[in-house]
Amino acid sequence: MPTRWFTETLHRHVRQALAYTRVIAQEKTPFQKMSILETEAYGRALTLDGIVQTTEGDEYIYHEMMTHIPMFAHPNPRKILVIGGGDGGIAREALRHPEVEKVVMVEIDPSVVKFCRRYIPKICGKAFQHPKLELVIDDGARYVRETDERFDVAIIDSTDPIGPATVLFETEFYRNVAQVLRGPGIMVRQTGSSFLQPSEMPEAASRLKKVFRVVAPYVAAVPTYVGGFFGFLFASHQIQPLRATPAHLEARYRRARLVCRYYTPAIHRASFSLPANVRARLEHA
Ligand code: SAM
Repeated sequence: MPTRWFTETLHRHVRQALAYTRVIAQEKTPFQKMSILETEAYGRALTLDGIVQTTEGDEYIYHEMMTHIPMFAHPNPRKILVIGGGDGGIAREALRHPEVEKVVMVEIDPSVVKFCRRYIPKICGKAFQHPKLELVIDDGARYVRETDERFDVAIIDSTDPIGPATVLFETEFYRNVAQVLRGPGIMVRQTGSSFLQPSEMPEAASRLKKVFRVVAPYVAAVPTYVGGFFGFLFASHQIQPLRATPAHLEARYRRARLVCRYYTPAIHRASFSLPANVRARLEHA
C-alpha cells in the first residue's frame, strides 16, 4: 500500500506527521471526528478531531503513569473513578490492581468506546467486559456534580481543553472531584506537552491548589505526545506522592504482581524530579 501521511494539527507552529497505510475506520459523532489509522511507526492510532489520542505502540507509557502513580501512592485504592478514558487503557491498568473492588468510567461519547473495542482491542483488552467495571455514558463534569458515590482515586483522562473536555479543566470541576474523593483521596490529570502547551500545567496547578492541599507535578516521555516531557498533576488532601519509600513501593509493586513496560517503583519517585525549565514555570502557579 502507498505510504500516506497524517498530520496532527494540535499545535500552532509544530506539526507531527505519521506515515500510515490505511484508515481502518472513521466516524463523526455528536462530539468529535474519530479515526483509527494503521501507522507505520506506532501501529493503530486513535485520533479525535485530528489529534493523536493514543497508539498501540506507546499507549502503555501514558496509561501506566496515569494509573500506577496514584494507585501505589494510595494506601488502599479500592474504588476508582476514570473520567474520559474512552480507549479503555486506564481502566485496563486500574483493574490490574488486586485490591480494586470497582472502577467507574465516565465517558461522554459512547462511540469512542465502541470504536476502540472494535478497532484497537489491544488497548482496552478485556477491560470493558470486566465485572468490576461500571461504564457510565455521561459528561464527567455532571457526574461528579451529581453522584453520591465516593472514590479513593480519580483519574482524569480527557482530551485537550477544547470542545466537550473544556469543563474538565475548570476549578468548579476540581472542587466536585474533591467532593467525591474519600479519606486520603488522590486525583491525577494530564497537563499536556511541557514545551508546546506550556501554560496547561501552571494553569491547572493554580486551580488545583485552590482545592487540594497537595499538588505535585510529574513527567514522562510519551513519543506521540510531542514537545518535550509530557506533564501530569497529582493532587490530594492528605497524601504526598513521595510519602511511599522506595522499599514500600517495591513491596507494593511485587505484591500486586504487576509487570509494567514503563512504570517502575524507581520511575515513580524519579518522575517527580522536574527539570529546572518545567519547575520554573510552576513558580507562580
Ligand atoms: N490519553 C488521551 C490524551 O491524553 O489526550 C485521552 C484519551 S481518551 C480518548 C479522551 C476521552 O475523553 C475521549 O474519549 C472523550 O470522548 C472524553 N471526554 C472529553 N470530554 C469529556 C467529558 N466532559 N466527560 C467525559 N468524557 C469526556
